[in-house]
Amino acid sequence: MVDPCIGNYITHYIGGRATNKADTRQPAARFNGLFVCHAYNESTGCKRDKTHKGCKNNTGMEFAHVCNYRKGDGDFCLTGHERWKNHK
Ligand SMILES: [Zn+2]
Ligand SMILES: [Zn+2]
Repeated sequence: MVDPCIGNYITHYIGGRATNKADTRQPAARFNGLFVCHAYNESTGCKRDKTHKGCKNNTGMEFAHVCNYRKGDGDFCLTGHERWKNHK
């Protein structure tokens, strides 16, 4: 199962081997070494346990609650606001 917060890093099982392949169209945003929470940036919102940096999933993996909007120059916004509210 692919965690929605790591949606852009899809594990491909080829011939029984697992290879982590990044989707080059939109690399996963990272902030301070954490993946950015996708749900936080959607209007549905994040329903996971909250931490001071963002949230964590049921394996204890932490995600940052910052904006994952991708600017024209390819950099992520990474501001502490929700993408769906601040980028139309
Ligand atoms: Zn979250
Ligand atoms: Zn933003």
